[in-house]
Amino acid sequence: MKIELHLHTTRYSPCARATPEQMMQRLVAAGYEAVYITEHDAVWRADELAELGEKFPSLRIFGGVELTIGAHHLLVLGTSDPTYLDLHEESAVLDKARAAGHLTILAHPFRWDGGAGMLEIGMRPDALEARTNNHDEPAAQRARRVASELGLKVVNSSDAHDVDALDKFWVETAAPITAAEDIRDVILNGAYELQPQPAAPKQ
Ligand SMILES: [Zn+2]
Ligand SMILES: [Zn+2]
Repeated sequence: MKIELHLHTTRYSPCARATPEQMMQRLVAAGYEAVYITEHDAVWRADELAELGEKFPSLRIFGGVELTIGAHHLLVLGTSDPTYLDLHEESAVLDKARAAGHLTILAHPFRWDGGAGMLEIGMRPDALEARTNNHDEPAAQRARRVASELGLKVVNSSDAHDVDALDKFWVETAAPITAAEDIRDVILNGAYELQPQPAAPKQ
């Protein structure tokens, strides 16, 4: 299943440039089967997700959030719980997400100074973002190296703020994602592939 894990829309992210409908249309056209909507410091309510879902029956549309805490951008996937927005410490977010079965991803950890600082003081999300539209190739490589050193998973996502950012970086799961929380087990069990796959090293 082709899945988008990190996406913004004009509904709740002021920096986004496409409406939810425009984003979903492009995802369907590009063959995605599931998406987690992760607005900046805002969650979609379950009824809003359901309403959008009715317009795009071939797409599974799940909730999430991208929380800004200091220099960190933490994704929590599979939730419509607004109380995440009341948390102002990374450790509190990680504890709550782990207890609730929500996947946590440190977004673009090497996009700016301090973006990975929480790792240096021992905090561990479930996964690090590697390739996205907002992470250049050296930053993505560094994320893969650090994840491997720390035993963390790595994901690709678009971090899309516009339709043109879609269909470049994603994850492909072997099993279908049927419930919002399924993504955590799938990622932690490594039952997915990063797409596009890294090019074979040149001889
Ligand atoms: Zn971000
Ligand atoms: Zn983002």
